[in-house]
Amino acid sequence: MELKRNVKDRWWRSLVHARDDIEGLDAAILMHPKVWEASGHVAGFTDPMVDCRTCKGRFRADKLTDARCPQKPSKVPGEHTACDLTEPRLFNLMFKTFMGPVEDTAAVVYLRPETAQGIYVNYLNVLNSSRQKIPFGIAQVGKAFRNEITPGNFIFRTREFEQMEMQFFVRPGSDMEWFEQWRAIRMQWHHDLGLTPSKLRWHEHGPGELAHYAKAAYDIEYEFPFGWQEIEGIHNRGNFDLGRHQEHSGKKLEYFDPQANERFLPYIVETSAGADRVTLTVMADAYREEEVEGEVRVVLGFHPRIAPIKAAVLPLTKKDGLPEVADALYHDVKRRFPSFYDDGGAIGRRYRRQDEVGTPWCFTIDHDTLTDRTVTVRHRDSMQQERIGLDQVVAWVAAKLEE
Ligand code: ATP
Repeated sequence: MELKRNVKDRWWRSLVHARDDIEGLDAAILMHPKVWEASGHVAGFTDPMVDCRTCKGRFRADKLTDARCPQKPSKVPGEHTACDLTEPRLFNLMFKTFMGPVEDTAAVVYLRPETAQGIYVNYLNVLNSSRQKIPFGIAQVGKAFRNEITPGNFIFRTREFEQMEMQFFVRPGSDMEWFEQWRAIRMQWHHDLGLTPSKLRWHEHGPGELAHYAKAAYDIEYEFPFGWQEIEGIHNRGNFDLGRHQEHSGKKLEYFDPQANERFLPYIVETSAGADRVTLTVMADAYREEEVEGEVRVVLGFHPRIAPIKAAVLPLTKKDGLPEVADALYHDVKRRFPSFYDDGGAIGRRYRRQDEVGTPWCFTIDHDTLTDRTVTVRHRDSMQQERIGLDQVVAWVAAKLEE
């Protein structure tokens, strides 16, 4: 939870706070069903699924090679002699519910399967109520819901998840240039999260994969223990979305450029990432096991900027006044950074526990602290120790986080 918050905060800060040309938005989860007709989701937001008449398993037809048949020996569905797969059938991924007390077709509403449509239908509101001019973007972090056939791989694919989406509205003709800029910015963001660069790559959507309206699309993929998988999509969506909403709502969504004295329907470059999926990526990337003095040490080597706990305060013993000094330091540090206090067990074991949750620095209060007012800083990655002044700890952590 803290880790995911840090991921979302970094995304928000880099797009909304650090730039002047992006506004933040919090749109509704339940929107008029016509929005989903206009967007194409009612007709086309489907995955092909197949059923097995023998084991009753249900699989995504386009991801069969990632699936396993429950019969022994377990193989890809269809490969076992007993497998009896149906033809693929299209299955709409939107969750339906009803607005108001009457459960009939007129009252159907959908839980949003993506946050992007909330941005498109609010595009004019944002444009008219902010001081933005094209090119500009709208960013949103929020829940999305998909009735996935095969959720799994921990939080990689779930039915309820959070998206971090940004739609950038540009003048037609400048779209490919912006698309390339956004590709570079988004890849850099994943590097800055501390992800291993060699485990990140681009996947370009080929002609068969490219949505019919998209001009170009790339996914950023990460090499998980279960293979290369998408973590973010960067798409040049042309004027498809605003065109469809304009047509279905009857409301003009054109932009008037006073300098050029022209009207046009903006093109959209989208960056769409999953907050849960990126959080899983950060955890998978940070996890390592190493041998230290004949024992396995488990470490989550998070970049300090996203580590959920920044510092731990540990009194060496529970007596001689050490807990009082440690407690005062802990409360000082905790006011500024998420921190942890641990006085249970041998100091080596306490360091290991902090390694396992990825705390970059431990501050140990010992008997010397009482006389010289210094503490031991123990570094998670190098396991090196150094002494700094007790009253410098907060500033020391703040400076480290700036590095
Ligand atoms: P997939 O091919 O994995 O189903 P998608 O291409 O449908 O994904 P998009 O519609 O492009 O995904 O969604 C953008 C981002 O939202 C994805 O890159 C991913 O990070 C996240 N996402 C999509 N579906 C899920 C899900 N079921 N659970 C968690 N995150 C998801």
